[in-house]
Amino acid sequence: MRIGIIGAGQLGQMLGYAARNLGVNCRFVDPSDAPPAADVGEVIQRPFDDASALAELASTCDVVTYEFENVPVAALRRIEGKVPVYPPAAALRHAQDRLDEKRLFDQLDIPLPGYRTIDSREDIATAIDQLGLPLVIKTRRLGYDGKGQFIIRERDDVDSAWKSLGGNSLIAEQWVNFDYEVSAIGARNVAGDIVIYPLSRNVHEDGILRTSRSPVDAPHLADRAETYVRRLLGHLDYVGVLALELFVCDNDLMANEFAPRVHNSGHWTIEGAATSQFENHLRAIMNKPLGSTASLGHAGMINLIGDIPDAVRSLEQGVLHDYGKAARPGRKLGHITVTAETAAGCDALVDIISRSVNQSA
Ligand code: AMP
Repeated sequence: MRIGIIGAGQLGQMLGYAARNLGVNCRFVDPSDAPPAADVGEVIQRPFDDASALAELASTCDVVTYEFENVPVAALRRIEGKVPVYPPAAALRHAQDRLDEKRLFDQLDIPLPGYRTIDSREDIATAIDQLGLPLVIKTRRLGYDGKGQFIIRERDDVDSAWKSLGGNSLIAEQWVNFDYEVSAIGARNVAGDIVIYPLSRNVHEDGILRTSRSPVDAPHLADRAETYVRRLLGHLDYVGVLALELFVCDNDLMANEFAPRVHNSGHWTIEGAATSQFENHLRAIMNKPLGSTASLGHAGMINLIGDIPDAVRSLEQGVLHDYGKAARPGRKLGHITVTAETAAGCDALVDIISRSVNQSA
């Protein structure tokens, strides 16, 4: 069995490690020099939508998947008649366009913040009248980690927002005074079996995920989030792992976005769950029985962004995952997972390590 993976970043690398444990080979397509997944399989060094590279992947692999959501849908469509491609291109299409994504949430009765499409400065002014301030303007496409966003706090900001993002297809989104953020990660295999992980509680700074902890002690939220993830997986006839990011407000949930792939907020599952999200993604696309998503106690994950401080390399607690990437401000270079028997024990470890990461940065 050989799996083709478009993208050879850290998600590809961790998929590759999981594949090794299952006795499966991986082959990647990625234009970068020495990407993280080069450790775990051959990389065809070509652009993600290079027709000959994808044709080669299709003809030499039993199934093809992808590890990031900016793979051109047309590239997947070209090979999906030759080899099974999972998750399905339709899921990727929705995830690539924030407007399509929000319409899908609406269609599936998944609550979400108010939104409007924006084609002009005047549309922003109207959106402020209808949705109030603050208001977030987001590019419909190619935004990630908080990039392609502008927060309008007062009416005078409209021109700056337009200057910064105008020219792109945009949406305006109501600002949510959330209590905290969570993500729900599920997997569905070709046969339609579904498993759902315990919720993760996530902290972002400047739009980038800093820490995740799981499980979250809120069974009613977990039930509701599971219902939403099952709706998405079923509706999209989805195969693979999907992550749904949600805001928690007044003990209720509002969807922010979904990712049709393994997700940073699920990295804790490598040490903290009976089966990792990476293994379950592979099991799903190979149509194998899915593994248990049960937590092994309490787990926390701290992202290492921009730099891996020396202090972090000599910590007594936690498992360091170094993706082997060159340091660059704002870049995800690795993460640390901690596990503990109690939530308080896990929180204490996450806090100590976060402090050590921030002090050294
Ligand atoms: P996104 O790229 O849309 O997931 O945004 C990155 C992060 O920015 C989110 O995880 C939130 O922390 C914050 N954010 C995005 N949209 C909103 C919103 N409408 N209200 C409040 N915070 C938001």
